[in-house]
Amino acid sequence: MKFACLVAVLLLSVPAAARDPNVAHSVIVLIADGGGYNTHIAASHYTGGSSDAPLTSPEWVRVGCSTYPLRRQAKPIPGPEGLTQDGSLVYSSARSWDTTPIPAHEDDPKRPAHFASYAWHRQTFPDSANTASAIMTGVRTYNNAVNVNGNGEPVPALAQRFKALGKSVGVVTTVEMSDATPAAASGAHQISRNNRADIARQIFNGSFVDVIIGAGNPDYENSGNVRYEPEYSWIGEADWEPLKEGKHPGGWKLIQSIDEFRKAATTTSPARRLAGIFHSFNGHQFYRSGWDHKLDAPYTTPRRTDVPTLSEMANAALRVIERNDKGFFLMIEGGAVDRAMHANNTGRMIEEFIEFSDAIKTICQYLDAGTHGHTWTNTLVVVTADHDHLFMGSESGTTPFQPPVDRGKGVLPGTMFHSGSHSNQLVPVLARGAGAEGFHAAATRIDQHQDVSGRQFGRGAYLDQPQIHDVIVKAAGVQ
Ligand SMILES: [Zn+2]
Repeated sequence: MKFACLVAVLLLSVPAAARDPNVAHSVIVLIADGGGYNTHIAASHYTGGSSDAPLTSPEWVRVGCSTYPLRRQAKPIPGPEGLTQDGSLVYSSARSWDTTPIPAHEDDPKRPAHFASYAWHRQTFPDSANTASAIMTGVRTYNNAVNVNGNGEPVPALAQRFKALGKSVGVVTTVEMSDATPAAASGAHQISRNNRADIARQIFNGSFVDVIIGAGNPDYENSGNVRYEPEYSWIGEADWEPLKEGKHPGGWKLIQSIDEFRKAATTTSPARRLAGIFHSFNGHQFYRSGWDHKLDAPYTTPRRTDVPTLSEMANAALRVIERNDKGFFLMIEGGAVDRAMHANNTGRMIEEFIEFSDAIKTICQYLDAGTHGHTWTNTLVVVTADHDHLFMGSESGTTPFQPPVDRGKGVLPGTMFHSGSHSNQLVPVLARGAGAEGFHAAATRIDQHQDVSGRQFGRGAYLDQPQIHDVIVKAAGVQ
């Protein structure tokens, strides 16, 4: 009830953003799941700089961003306690860059700890649900939460805010459409990211999303082979069957095949609402055979040719939302960067980041060309990661925080993973276009640390993750 009132107030009180040349008419957020500073560096080494090329223009505003959760317990807690920040998780330069040697096996028997920093990061990291929710709602929450606060109460997300302004909303991912990041971007509300079919149900039966593209196809395996029996864990039968029959009450057009995606990416008569669920269950390319060959160079196993690229997915989404004269909100996720990093597979991580970088390039070209009147002066583009991993250079066990080592173009850089999961390190935020300067203004914290040997570490100016939401809504003219 509280939430319905808020949407109504927004509808009445927000001026028409489209008419003001100083506001972002449209907003595009690109998220490399898990892809922090060192992921950019590793991919850039491998590609000889081309994966970084779309981000080298001086017009990009560059700041850091903290990603810590409200708490790590993965469930809501009622009352004031549920809204209280766990102070031990708050980002601290001194903890993050602590080079104090610690004995091997102190915190993780499988991974020698090397430095106090690495152990701290293994103990305090966020997950993708609370980080994506922080970006989408401006409210920090617990691990597992999708657009709910620490009490489990729904909080309006950018999808709702922009829909209330009459804008179109699109969500595109290389992983499952009801996974944490696309769920938060779609404006779903769940106390647990594990309620996957419920998330899909909210997306398909709610009124906030015009395009949703991702995996989770109940009829297909990760190889692209048809399943003997459907598997409805990402999309429930109650939605999938009517979608396939073209009878879903949400009025969705379902596309699945590569030919349908390519047609949707270039059409001049797009569907009113488009569900693009390509022929894969868990993501797009990462889980094809060979994903557990950690030392393989990128492309050792040829990529699938029967699923669209992230750029083709983004183009299919743009065709649906670009004609709305009130503008649009589009989230594009390179979701499997994170999957490759969990598997400690540098080669596939680089592949996935190249895919993500190609999507950034596609968006830059789209705005350079002023397609349908969408330009850098009326569109805000934000490129970030939801969180980082503990991923560094090959000698980072003895040289603290060594970045990936350049071994030449087309050669795997020297890397080392210090965890099978996330870290609490800062991530980059790059912003360009209408309102991008707001990120400079918001980044009032400074990340710097000098250790006992006098070595200097730090990422410089940074903001806190919920502020990404705040800068976006301000840029878009939402009061
Ligand atoms: Zn992850």
